[in-house]
Amino acid sequence: MSATVIDGNQLSRQLRGDIALRASRLAAAGHQPGLAVIVVGDNPASKVYVRNKVKACADAGFHSLHEAYPDDFAEAALLDRIAALNADPAVHGILVQLPLPVHIDANRVIEAIAPAKDVDGFHIANAGALMVGGAAAAAGFKPCTPYGCMKLLESVGCDPRGKHAVVIGRSNIVGKPMAMLLLQAHATVTICHSATPDLAAHTRLADIVVVAVGRRNTLTAEMVKPGAVVLDVGMNRDDDGKLCGDVDFAGVSPVASAMTPVPGGVGPMTITMLLMNTLEAAERVARRSSANVESIRS
Ligand code: NAP
Repeated sequence: MSATVIDGNQLSRQLRGDIALRASRLAAAGHQPGLAVIVVGDNPASKVYVRNKVKACADAGFHSLHEAYPDDFAEAALLDRIAALNADPAVHGILVQLPLPVHIDANRVIEAIAPAKDVDGFHIANAGALMVGGAAAAAGFKPCTPYGCMKLLESVGCDPRGKHAVVIGRSNIVGKPMAMLLLQAHATVTICHSATPDLAAHTRLADIVVVAVGRRNTLTAEMVKPGAVVLDVGMNRDDDGKLCGDVDFAGVSPVASAMTPVPGGVGPMTITMLLMNTLEAAERVARRSSANVESIRS
């Protein structure tokens, strides 16, 4: 038997339909969701990501701003642009496409974004909120890729409660927040990384495996417990230049119960959750402004 293929494209279409509906209601009330995307430099992959994000915004009925700056754009000028967008009421979310050129301190840039507009969920205030959990986490923004992974698990009825989840990778963008989200969902979580001596010893015990490494065939059939759910975050190129993930899809498929393909799994969900976070940011602004109107009236 082959694993059920968890279809990120289909789930994205469904969620984006809901997002577009909520966005149209907000727009009718004078709060069209707005996302500003900034890209610095000439990275071809960044250009593709940004183009996809801007198109997804248009399709969902969002207002979007796309600002592109040359490779030698000064950090101070970038911080000035972020300050202006922080103050712009038409902008509910700000995303600075990473990686940035080496002369720019990415952490300083991320920390300059107002936490209420940090729809990537990378600001230390949002990362801290996720760590604290509970009401703090609900008020913050979750990083889009792990947030999308949680939705993919939900879509196949995989409740992490009581399960053993292994996350391979500990980046601030994927691995660490993924582990926090699984922990909040009551999984027992193991985080593996490049210094983990025997990766397979951990993955063989896992009911859920999330692989976010950036290396082909990091997870192969003999490393997977029969019936496990496998999410593949990796994005790599195979020898023919075709997009592939970190998981040996053909090998693992007869062992796992459900797994994401690459492409068409986690990737589309990342942009969908970016839209979701931006929508939520706009809805919070709308709720605050209608509460203000109510308090002025009463
Ligand atoms: P990253 O910052 O390079 O982190 C990679 C992680 O993998 C690190 O924690 C590293 O450990 C660990 N690692 C490296 N070699 C390993 C090994 N042999 N065994 C176990 N762990 C190992 O990358 P990232 O930003 O998290 O992204 C990971 C992958 O996901 C990339 O392919 C990226 O393109 C992809 N990605 C996809 C999406 C999407 O939307 N689909 C979004 C984001 C990222 P150390 O910490 O010890 O170095």
